[in-house]
Formats: sequence, C-alpha cells, structure tokens
Amino acid sequence: MALVSLRNVTKAYPNPNGGDPVLAINDVSLDIEAGDVYGIIGYSGAGKSTLVRLINALEPVTDGSVVVNGQELAGLGEKQLRPVRLGIGMIFQQFNLFNAKTVWNNVAYPLRVAGASKEKIQARVDELLEFVGLADKAKNFPEQLSGGQKQRVGIARALATAPSILLCDEATSALDPETTQEVLALLKRVNSEFGVTMVVITHEMEVIQSIATKVAVMDQGRIVESGDVFEVFSNP
Ligand code: ADP
Ligand code: ADP
Repeated sequence: MALVSLRNVTKAYPNPNGGDPVLAINDVSLDIEAGDVYGIIGYSGAGKSTLVRLINALEPVTDGSVVVNGQELAGLGEKQLRPVRLGIGMIFQQFNLFNAKTVWNNVAYPLRVAGASKEKIQARVDELLEFVGLADKAKNFPEQLSGGQKQRVGIARALATAPSILLCDEATSALDPETTQEVLALLKRVNSEFGVTMVVITHEMEVIQSIATKVAVMDQGRIVESGDVFEVFSNP
C-alpha cells in the first residue's frame, strides 16, 4: 500500500470576495510509495501548498480521502493526528527556524516537545548536526548562518523525530543555484541513507530534474500529468 494516498480529494476555501468557493484542490488522486522522491510542480496558485497542508493534516479535506502511513486522516481529532504529524517532517522556503534559539536547540526542539530523554536528545542532535555538516555551528544562532546552512539546520530539525516522510515546500527557492545543488544533494542522502520518502514541492523544473524520480504536474487545483520524471518530461 502507498505511504501517502489521495483519492478524489477536493479542497474548497470560502471565497474572500464572496461568491463561489475557491477550489484550491479539484478531484486529485495521487499515490506516493515508500522510498519515492516525489516532485510536485506547478505555477504559483496551482494548489501545491494546499496539497502539502492536506497531507500534513494541517487542514481537513472538503471531500475525498487522504491516507498517510495506513491511517485515514478524515475524521481524526487533534489528539489522534499528533502521531501522524510526528511521522512527517517539513522544511520551508524561509527555513522557519527559531531565531532566539541556537542551532543545537533548534534541532533539539521537536525532541523536547516529544518528551525524549536528555540522553536521547543529546545523542540525536549531535548525530544530526554531524550528518548535515554543522557540528561546528551548534552554538551559533540562525542569523549567523548562510541560507544554505539555515536550510541544513531546517533539515536536521525536520529529521529529529525520525519521520518516514519529509515534505519540502519550495525548500531551495530562496537559495542561489550552487547552494540549491548542495541542499538537493543532502536531501538525496536523506532519501538514500535513511529511506525517508520525500515530497518535493517546487515551481522549478531544475529541482525536479536533479532530485525527483516521479512527478505530478499541477495546474488550477488539478494534477494534469504524472508519472516517472523521465517520461513526463520527455514529451515534446
Ligand atoms: P501554490 O502553493 O501552488 O501557490 P496554493 O495551494 O497556495 O497554491 O493556492 C491554491 C489556490 O487556493 C489559490 O487560488 C489560492 O488563492 C487559494 N487559497 C489558498 N489558501 C486559501 C485560503 N486560506 N482561503 C482562500 N483561498 C485560498
Ligand atoms: P538542559 O536540558 O539543561 O537545557 P542540555 O544538555 O539539553 O541541558 O543542554 C544544555 C545547553 O547546552 C543547551 O541549551 C544547548 O544549547 C547546549 N548544548 C548541549 N549539548 C551541546 C552540544 N553537543 N553542542 C553544543 N551545545 C550543546
């Protein structure tokens, strides 16, 4: 069974100008298998971020079914959603680090929230900072880091609770091309070494081509094409 499975999913928002609801997601079905690096590409407004919020159970669907790790999300309460969310890590375009916390404490934060022991936190944070190549920056604050370093902290923090899925929402869009390639190389290692399934949301074709194995193309709330990257982008 797919790790993430969407069936005929629709998400409508109330129209802020009155009138018909905004159909941010319109009858989308999608299967993401364990181990995939699954790209989702589309222009601004296509519905990509909404899709991420549905998978991460930050918002309920209007219609249809979202199954994550074998769990149907529809109808679950906040308490039942907590373990589902712990199994999903997220990284963001603007990194979303805690600026008043050190690098070390940024990575420790999800473990503290999850109630991990002091020994476990110490070992895990050190291991993750080593993995992302920032052991020497443990005591720095985010503002003392470059963009690429900030995103590496974001990746370490997202992996802290050992999620099975990492959602990357425009994670390299604020970075220059060279730093983008460095971060994508690190994300590839997260997939190959830890077996973490990746969902890579982007408006940039280069990102899909350098990292994804499968891709869905979104337009106006629909998936208009999907399949192996090689096949989808080989059409003239
Ligand atoms: P993308 O991430 O691809 O840029 P979004 O998922 O952010 O697309 O948005 C898809 C559509 O849904 C857009 O038309 C957007 O204006 C609309 N939308 C997103 N969030 C809301 C909201 N909270 N209320 C009303 N409309 C929204
Ligand atoms: P406490 O639970 O009292 O905060 P911790 O052992 O979690 O104790 O950490 C104490 C402080 O030392 C933390 O705030 C953290 O910033 C820092 N710290 C702990 N381990 C390291 C480390 N390996 N490298 C850098 N700073 C660390």
